[in-house]
Amino acid sequence: MRLAKLLLPACLLPVLAAAAEPTQVPDAALATAEALRERALADDTGWKIVESLTTEVGPRLAGSEADARAVAWAQAKFRELGFDRVWIEPVRFPTWERRSEHAAVLGENAQPVVVTALGGSPGGTVEAQIVRFESMEALQAAPAGSLAGRIAFVDFDMQRTRDGSGYGKAGAVRSRGPSEAIRKGAIGYLMRSIGTSPHRVANTGITRFDEGLTPIPSAALSLPDADQLARLLARGPVRVRLALDCGWTGAEYTSHNVIGEITGREAPEQVVVIGAHLDSWDLGTGAIDDASGVGITMAAGRLIGQLPQRPRRSIRVIAFANEEQGLLGGREYARRHADDVTNHVIAAESDFGAGRIYGFSTSAPAHADAATRRFAQALTPLGIEHMPGKGGPGPDITPLAAVGGAWAWLGQDGSTYFDLHHNADDTLDKIDPQALAQNVAAYAVFAYLAAEAQGDFGSAPKQVATP
Ligand SMILES: [Zn+2]
Repeated sequence: MRLAKLLLPACLLPVLAAAAEPTQVPDAALATAEALRERALADDTGWKIVESLTTEVGPRLAGSEADARAVAWAQAKFRELGFDRVWIEPVRFPTWERRSEHAAVLGENAQPVVVTALGGSPGGTVEAQIVRFESMEALQAAPAGSLAGRIAFVDFDMQRTRDGSGYGKAGAVRSRGPSEAIRKGAIGYLMRSIGTSPHRVANTGITRFDEGLTPIPSAALSLPDADQLARLLARGPVRVRLALDCGWTGAEYTSHNVIGEITGREAPEQVVVIGAHLDSWDLGTGAIDDASGVGITMAAGRLIGQLPQRPRRSIRVIAFANEEQGLLGGREYARRHADDVTNHVIAAESDFGAGRIYGFSTSAPAHADAATRRFAQALTPLGIEHMPGKGGPGPDITPLAAVGGAWAWLGQDGSTYFDLHHNADDTLDKIDPQALAQNVAAYAVFAYLAAEAQGDFGSAPKQVATP
């Protein structure tokens, strides 16, 4: 393997953007973007799209019967909105089903508690004493075997933040907590929901069990119920029955990324990607996660399509399949289009609810600074601040960025996002139509200016060294 080692430094050389001519946004494009912005603010297309998806399809768990209806809905909606090309690309994955879920405290304080199974959890009924941990670290520190015959209960309290950073810190409790509990001997797993809602609703979300472990029933408690268990534990030992009927069905399902395109007049092969994910969890109607993103990006594409002439490059709006169970649509899109990453001029995903956008940044290199500043100039009247170095690609754009695609961040105020995220309260009534229109305006301005720009934003194949 010495040869491979010798070759490694060459493989790691960064791909230099050819000549790095400054990227420019023509004055006429800026004027059109400003008019587009004002039109978007007075337009309710985004709202109507969200209303249609959440009402006609409702919840659309990946691989469920509603997944197929959502794919059909998205194709029909793109056509109705006047997109030039509409097509689908298959995405295959295993299916998980939720059938029923119950939990109750047993014994002298017997009472039901509200839980929801984590996506990926097996079914099963367990009755055992619960052992509470204040954090993932505390669970990790428990001696091996110390939870034999017990149910682990991780009671980590997520912080409410504008940028969603509280979710990042809490994420491991759901993604890695069950596997950690199994290693300590636990027969069941309960966690305080990763959420900020004071309501008696529990937040689901995907979990994964490490190879070689036998999965255990794993569920999230509503915040008031997590508090209730903590108070009962302060009085003495608590036994809980957790009864889940859910699990991987063993069947494979084929869903689709649904794509609508406004075809560019000069360089149609070069595309500006905006998008959101079409699937949702099953407890609410997936309004803020992520019908809002679908509405925002479809409406932005439609507004650009209504201009007297087509933009220079194409606008590609993608409704991604199965984001919730592991970015499966986003990964498949990047795999299928990796050879064409240079033509993916820049990409942005709306997947953080329906709150107003407050910040903007891109991954673009220095030679695109003048163009990026023009984007910022057109976004300023929407209350959006240029925040270089902040943010990142949306989840479904991450795989495209990993193969070298440039990305933009249009950061939404997520202060109330986790009141609704992945729980039964994620319904249409929570969306403010004015805030949604501000999002549409920002996406229309961004996508249009990127499509009219002369020059690149740094998309280039990323060479990854193979060990
Ligand atoms: Zn989402």
